[in-house]
Amino acid sequence: MHDIIDTFAHDSWVLPYLKRYKGLLLLVIFLGFMTFFCGSALMFTSGYLISRAAQRPENILLIYVPIVLTRAFGIGRPAFRYAQRLTSHNWVLRIVSDFRKKLYLAVEKTAVTIRQERQTGDILAVLADDIEHIENLYLRTIFPVIIGWLLYIVVTVAIGGFNWAFGLLMFLLFGMITIVIPLISVAVNGARVYKTREIQHDFYVGLTDSVLGLADWVIAGRQKDLVANQDQPIEAQVRLRRQDHHFTWWRDFTTQMFVGIITIVMLVFADVEFGGSDKLVNWIAAFTLAIFPTIDAFQGIAQGFTEWPSHQASIRRVNDFDHNEKTASAVPQVEVVPNDFTALNINDVTFQYENGKAPAVSHLNLQIKKGEKLAILGPSGAGKSTLLKLLLGDLTATDGQILVNDIDVAALQTHRAELFGVLDQQPYLFNSTVMNNVRLGNLAATDEQVIAAVEAVGLGELVAGLPDGYQTAMSEGGNRFSGGERQRFALARILLQDAPIIILDEPTVSLDPITEAAILATIFKLFKDKTIIWVTHHLMGVKYVDQVRFIENGQFEMVGSPAELYQTEPRFKKLLDLDRGLTTE
Ligand code: ADP
Ligand code: MG
Repeated sequence: MHDIIDTFAHDSWVLPYLKRYKGLLLLVIFLGFMTFFCGSALMFTSGYLISRAAQRPENILLIYVPIVLTRAFGIGRPAFRYAQRLTSHNWVLRIVSDFRKKLYLAVEKTAVTIRQERQTGDILAVLADDIEHIENLYLRTIFPVIIGWLLYIVVTVAIGGFNWAFGLLMFLLFGMITIVIPLISVAVNGARVYKTREIQHDFYVGLTDSVLGLADWVIAGRQKDLVANQDQPIEAQVRLRRQDHHFTWWRDFTTQMFVGIITIVMLVFADVEFGGSDKLVNWIAAFTLAIFPTIDAFQGIAQGFTEWPSHQASIRRVNDFDHNEKTASAVPQVEVVPNDFTALNINDVTFQYENGKAPAVSHLNLQIKKGEKLAILGPSGAGKSTLLKLLLGDLTATDGQILVNDIDVAALQTHRAELFGVLDQQPYLFNSTVMNNVRLGNLAATDEQVIAAVEAVGLGELVAGLPDGYQTAMSEGGNRFSGGERQRFALARILLQDAPIIILDEPTVSLDPITEAAILATIFKLFKDKTIIWVTHHLMGVKYVDQVRFIENGQFEMVGSPAELYQTEPRFKKLLDLDRGLTTE
């Protein structure tokens, strides 16, 4: 109980909604109650009717009332059930839609902070799983438990009206099913359900991480380990599920045992109460049969209780999301005309991730002037991506400054798209037409400008050959196009965007050497007047740049033009020769 209060103490995801749609909630509970009430009443009147009919009444009119009632309850039960389903789902869908919006706003407001503090998989887990759990919290826990308990009270009070002692006995017997077994369930099985959920959650996080870093696993030759890693949690889950099934079986068996006991007790009671008289004897069947439908309602309680711990974990997690929310740093934004871009300065920049041991980059200094081309090389984990995120303002330097024309990048975030064109490893193509996808670079571009950009990146012929030309739909992710073609589409976008600084984060990492060489040639031809900062992991195309910087352990190591480094750094010479040999440039 303390646990439950604790969970809801700072809750802003469940309770407010219970309040907001109060009327609908009451309707759901009323309809649910009526469904079971009609079920019981149907059995009650049928029991009476069958029993009375067996006495061969002289006139059909003597059993006319129970006949009508049987019909009424018979129709009433499915009708109420249907209405209850409709209203409860309506209720849940309303909430879920509010929910998604709330979650979106929470994520959007703190997109930068989240990227720093959370793994992508974490958010995926919330989106995919927690919302569904809170849906189920209502549909499978809250509604059934309230309806079940309501019925429990009404039934025992009704029986108590006949005979208070027997009412008390029934109160205790039903209590086994409605209270004791659910409590045991949650104590025994709750932990298991919770554990299953935790494994599932870790699995999402781990899997996302692995997928995002897929290339690294392949490069390390550890594909087998990757697959084995994914199997492990699945096996653990299967084990837990099996125990869960076992427990559920025993729980249902015990419940049925009590149902048997209750039925017999009811039969005995009804016999003692009504057995003596020819007139009253028919009530025996009525009372006894009426028990069965209530059991359905009571069984939902135990199920709902068992699922509580896993729902609880979700409630905690979404609330956690809220409370960790930091308001985005309110750096006042400035006006700039990006065409006036003159230089980008990195002044003694250090950045440490909150959960990182050592700084990811430390004391970096660099100046890039308008039109200069820089290549940044370094092994995986050296800090290349971190540096690019700092440049773009996605991360804020722990120490030092990054200045565009003497203005801190943090103050330029509203003009980001006018300053930076970014091409990364996997540009995203949306489920829309070719025209719309390319126009994303600059929504004000005319059709002619879009076509010119597509032709400039060398895709004119390809698009002309598509079934609907520029109106052809790119399926989501752009599956119909090769990796090189997707990069070219992304280049067309950046071309339209016409920003002075182009950031390339290993844009050719997933391409074959021939496509890679062609794409690099296109990039450096198209953007020959722009400033380019290019992160790469090998030396193909390095001849295009003015300056090369090696980064290792978050620090710049070798610096110079390709020609200088070729002369002075044997390591560079060796790498370049190796690369040439490999690719016969
Ligand atoms: P690169 O792009 O050169 O492969 P990164 O900039 O991605 O390297 O990473 C630099 C270092 O920072 C690595 O040690 C990496 O583990 C760490 N790092 C990267 N992202 C995060 C993060 N979100 N949280 C904590 N540490 C991180
Ligand atoms: Mg990287």
